[in-house]
Parts: sequence; structure tokens; C-alpha cells
Amino acid sequence: GGQTAAALVTGANKGIGLEIVRQLSEKFSGTVYLTARDEHRGQEAAKYLQHDGRKNVQFLRMDVTDKKSIETARDFIKKSHGGLDVLINNAGIFVKTEGSMQDMMQRPPTPEALADTIATNFTGLLDVCKVMFPILRPHARVVNVSSSLGTLARMKSPELTHKLTAETLTVDELEKILADYVKSGLDEKSGYPVGGFGPYAMSKIGVTALTRVLQRDLAEDQSRPDMVINACCPGYVATDLNNNMGHLTVKQGADTPVYLATLKDGDIPRGQFVKQRKVLNW
Ligand code: NDP
Repeated sequence: GGQTAAALVTGANKGIGLEIVRQLSEKFSGTVYLTARDEHRGQEAAKYLQHDGRKNVQFLRMDVTDKKSIETARDFIKKSHGGLDVLINNAGIFVKTEGSMQDMMQRPPTPEALADTIATNFTGLLDVCKVMFPILRPHARVVNVSSSLGTLARMKSPELTHKLTAETLTVDELEKILADYVKSGLDEKSGYPVGGFGPYAMSKIGVTALTRVLQRDLAEDQSRPDMVINACCPGYVATDLNNNMGHLTVKQGADTPVYLATLKDGDIPRGQFVKQRKVLNW
């Protein structure tokens, strides 16, 4: 039991997520849960940080596409800590095809790649929020790792852009937009982002739009004041996601997510898209 603080990072066995756990474990006075979909990879990553002196790092298994595993993690944290103080939604995929980045960009995605990308990057992230938000404590910080690739400039439909940015947008409406995309995203006339990066861009547009909606919902919760959620871009970071083509290190990439996870109360970003610690239009 007890009320010791708890933080949770998804997709943290490697890449930016692993570095987020490392940096957060130095700044956060509580347990940092390194979560991963694969038990072995996750355990190994947690052991690696523990041997490196991060005694407050613990492994928990969680696949963001497996609702049961999210609920099991939530129950464990509720039982061990009474609630959750920091949630960093970092898990994400980019489905690669043969050839160079240029080739991947030009070739249209397969229906499977499109569906998988939305299932992990958008729906998985949203499911984590739905399951974890009831145990967030007052002053909780939530960070969604989005991407600058998820810019509205990629939307070819003014009508959809209008819907996505409406102050009155709801989670249900946003889920409907993404579900429609999974059905007709390959139709170039429908106005969604095109090319091999289309599904990734659309998934991150969904994440950034979702962040604004969720901030509104969190702010309305009178019983738990000052809960803050922001989206961010880590920058173009060398990881397996881009065959290590990025020009930033994971240390640099983790900086903004960790900054947003440790924001003090006051005049801080709320429901924003942040890159290099600065609020940007998306
Ligand atoms: P990596 O591929 O190195 O790491 C992705 C992590 O997500 C892995 O730990 C992976 O686990 C995990 N993951 C994938 N699917 C699931 C799932 N269903 N459940 C739980 N975990 C899962 O990529 P990055 O570190 O680069 O990416 C981290 C985040 O940053 C992503 O959201 C990405 O979109 C975003 N981003 C990255 C940029 C970059 O330049 N690298 C730029 C902009 C945004 P496993 O090892 O099991 O596959």
C-alpha cells in the first residue's frame, strides 16, 4: 500500500523511451516504471539501468495494443502506490518497407501497415489514457510523444482540418475520424496524408489533436486539480525507428519529454505541442 509516487513510461525497453526512464529516474522522487511489450527485453533494459545505479527503476509488462495488460499494470500501480503521478506515452511504430527512406516515402502503405500504425500509435495510446486516467493524482503530468511529421499541413481536406482543430472536438469524434481513416485512408481523394509516411503522420496528428481534447477534460475534473497533458516532438533522433538516420542523440530526444513530465505548477504549457521545450503550432 502507501502513497509513494509513481511514474510510467510506455515502450521503454530501447530508444527514446529507455533514455526517458534514465533521465526521469534522476529527477523523480518515486518509482519509475519501465514498461515494454516483451517481458525479456523489458527486464533486461530495467536491469541495465538498475546496475547503472538507478535503483528506483522497475519493470512492468505492458503492450499498448493489449487492453488486459494495461489494466493489469494499472491495478498493480493502484495497489502499490495508490495512484499515478507521471505517464509518458512513448511507445510507437513506423512500419518500414524495403529500400531507402525516400523509397518508403513515395510508396503507398499497405492496408495492414496503415491499420497497425493507427492501432499502436493512436488507439493504443488512447487506451492507455482511458485506463490510467482514473488513477492519476492531482498535479499529475502526462506526456504524449507525437511528431513534427504529424503536422496539419499534410491534411488535404480543409473540412477535416477544421474538425481536428475545433475547440469542441470530443474523444468520440476523434476516434471516428481515425476509424474512417483506417477504412478509407488509401483513397487519395479522401484528403488524408498520402505516401508511405501517411499512416505515421495521421497517427501523430491524432495524438496531438487528442492531447488538446484530453487537457480540456482533465481541467474539468474539480476533484483533482492541476492535471496537465502535453504532446511533444523529440526531434529527429537516431533510433531503430529510422534505421539510426536521425541527427540527434537519445539524450537530446528525451529532454523535452522529461521536461514536460516534471513541469512545476504555474504558467506552464497545457494541452500544447512542444518541441525543444517551446510551444509550437502544428
Ligand atoms: P524505437 O523503435 O527505438 O522504440 C520504440 C519503442 O516502442 C520500443 O521500445 C518498442 O518495443 C515500443 N513499442 C512498439 N509497439 C509497442 C506496443 N504495442 N506496446 C508497447 N511498446 C511498444 O523508436 P523511438 O525511440 O525513436 O520512438 C519513440 C517514440 O518517439 C515513438 O512514439 C516515435 O513515433 C516518436 N518519435 C521518434 C522520432 C525519431 O526521430 N526517432 C521522431 C519523432 C517522434 P519493441 O522493442 O518491443 O518493438
